[in-house]
Amino acid sequence: VGRAQLLAQFHEAMLGIYDAARRLKPPYVPGDFRRMVVEMGGKATADKLLAMDKPSDGFGTLLLRGKEALKLSVEYVVLQHPWRQLFEPEQLAIARRRLQEVRCELPPEDVDTPSEPEDGEEAGSIEVPGDGTDRVIYFNNCKNRDHKGLFGRGAFYDLNLTGIQATQAVGLQPGQECVVATTAPDNRVIFTWYSFLRERRLRERGSADRTLCRVFFGDPLLAETFSKEDAATNPRYRAFFNVKGHFKQQSTISAMVPHGQRPTDPPADSSEIRDLRRELRELQRPDRPKTPEMLRRVQRILRSYEGPSAITRYVKRMRGSTCQLCEDPGFVMRNGQRYCEAHHLFHLSKNPPPECLGPEYLVILCATCHRRMHYADVGEPVRDRGGWRVRVDDKEMVFRI
Ligand SMILES: [Zn+2]
Ligand SMILES: [Zn+2]
Repeated sequence: VGRAQLLAQFHEAMLGIYDAARRLKPPYVPGDFRRMVVEMGGKATADKLLAMDKPSDGFGTLLLRGKEALKLSVEYVVLQHPWRQLFEPEQLAIARRRLQEVRCELPPEDVDTPSEPEDGEEAGSIEVPGDGTDRVIYFNNCKNRDHKGLFGRGAFYDLNLTGIQATQAVGLQPGQECVVATTAPDNRVIFTWYSFLRERRLRERGSADRTLCRVFFGDPLLAETFSKEDAATNPRYRAFFNVKGHFKQQSTISAMVPHGQRPTDPPADSSEIRDLRRELRELQRPDRPKTPEMLRRVQRILRSYEGPSAITRYVKRMRGSTCQLCEDPGFVMRNGQRYCEAHHLFHLSKNPPPECLGPEYLVILCATCHRRMHYADVGEPVRDRGGWRVRVDDKEMVFRI
């Protein structure tokens, strides 16, 4: 993810603070804050608030609502991954101090700041994994609405603000898996899986209807098509159907789906992965001399491949959160899911395979083992039946994939 893209996403996250504050009970409507974000941009607003000699009134208001509400403060948000990389260490220190002064718990990624890595690389590749939970939220797109066209990139569903729908699908956590069913010709149904990112209140583009909708945004994971009859008996999708094999009336349905019943196709390449792949291929052209600078760039690409993406979410979903090195199951996060990280096996290799941006090159590790794989004495991975063999210090380890 480039800096410009990250800044744009941070801007959205700052607007998200406003949306989330309004959903507090009773609602808190920080209108001045929102105006600042709209006028100055998210990053400049955060810079300004952190530069003030004391926390804003909004910080005080959130504090009065309890420590949980303080997680909506700019101070808390800037300490979170990936936004923290947009800020200077001094700014992060100010945010941390303000939260510590009121004994607010810090985001997990800020508690254990790792030692500075070599080569000027960025520390931390922490992400909220989209796995661990078996609950799937089903959305019935019975009107075949084009959510992307109506609400913008990443939008996959919308609900009315009022009526029975307003109370449905509450409390989706980032990483929550959602399936949208859309009907297609010949009595077929397309099921598209998304990893939920955020909810926003928006009006339809270019529509005379000015009412606000709850709009859900996420990353597409994969899609598959079935005949309606086959779908109604498929354990993955039967939650959509009543006993007669017709679609249920509700727009949203929550159901449990066993891990083994989930679709297993690797995710389609997202544009960011395609860009990384192109850059890597260019760097590894046979006629290009292997300079230390070029090697550093390759390693940086492999490092960013470990960050949040459809691929890492897919790998976490398929293999679970348990560390493949020490078998630690991962600690339980506030959202109930278990924490883990994705690691690229050829990260420090002098000679990574040219096509190494695929899910089979990633392994799941706990935070400690991930650091170990980056800083300990680690050999070149060797492909073995069903996985990889890698020497870590003086022990040979096998990673199943
Ligand atoms: Zn481990
Ligand atoms: Zn790694």
